[in-house]
Amino acid sequence: MPFHDYMAASNARYYATRDPLGLAGDFTTAPEISQMFGELVGVWLADLWLRADSPPAAYVELGPGRGTLAVDARRAARKAGFAPPVHLVETSPTLRTAQAERFFDATWHDTVDTLPDDRPLFVVANEFFDALPVRQYERTPDGWRERGVAREGDRLAPILLPEPIEHLPDAPTGSIAERNPAAATIITALAARLRFRGGALLAIDYGYAGPAFGDTVQAMRAHAPVDPLAYPGEADLTAHVDFTALADAARAGGLATHGPIPQGTFLRAMGIGLRTAALTAAAPARADEIAAARDRLISPDAMGALFKVAAYTAPGWPVPAGFAQ
Ligand code: SAH
Repeated sequence: MPFHDYMAASNARYYATRDPLGLAGDFTTAPEISQMFGELVGVWLADLWLRADSPPAAYVELGPGRGTLAVDARRAARKAGFAPPVHLVETSPTLRTAQAERFFDATWHDTVDTLPDDRPLFVVANEFFDALPVRQYERTPDGWRERGVAREGDRLAPILLPEPIEHLPDAPTGSIAERNPAAATIITALAARLRFRGGALLAIDYGYAGPAFGDTVQAMRAHAPVDPLAYPGEADLTAHVDFTALADAARAGGLATHGPIPQGTFLRAMGIGLRTAALTAAAPARADEIAAARDRLISPDAMGALFKVAAYTAPGWPVPAGFAQ
């Protein structure tokens, strides 16, 4: 099967059968490191909503995990008067249960296609697009071929599918190209709503501004990298997000694009320094812990540079905070 189908099936089973987040799981995300992350996203949302003249709107999150970001963002946004209904796009029954413990009043969706289409949407996606399956292609001496997975005895092995691939730009032999068709489809569907009803999408992920070549697929199990084919359905498979491809889909759908900028730059612009000081003043005994969490979020050696933030906004909407030239 194409590697894409393997990644889709593996992640569907992986997320359906566990809560993968935190120390006891396989990986830790920014909202699980500190409440400051979700709070600053909430401030970003509320600021944009206020400058868009406070329309009735909806909060939407794609792949909300434990719902931590949504809880922290909602608490911060509410202080500015922004308290929209919550819509969560989540396919995992296990994580839906975890989210329902914190949001008794949310509406769940399997896909973005059933989201409200009568009001502006404020959409947040943190480490969501990187979990979607990618197609991988390899430039052989005979042109591009798609990478696949085959059963070899009792294990899985990488193969190349025989059909020639014609739609990729030429590159040196051995080059790897990745495409994320689901990401483009989701952005296109969201753009159709945002374009006519208003709103914005904030996308945060480990990624790059393409075009680029290279195999970025990683598998994580118990906080350590493993062979992506070794634990089907039992390891988290991700691929770095091509923010240029996301922006192309957003622009084709009629949206204005902002960024990507490094996560550290975004969080500093949103006031993580002030928030660190306020939390520390309220809990001096936790000063070291709070400072360590801030550093993990913004330091270029941790998440500050590799993680990127991009925003896509409805035509005519204000430029969102953190992205002004
Ligand atoms: N945003 C959270 C969780 C990131 S893990 C955080 O930052 O902590 C990826 C999330 O996306 C999980 O909630 C997973 O169940 C969900 N997910 C993965 N593929 C999905 C898909 N195709 N549709 C909807 N949700 C998906």
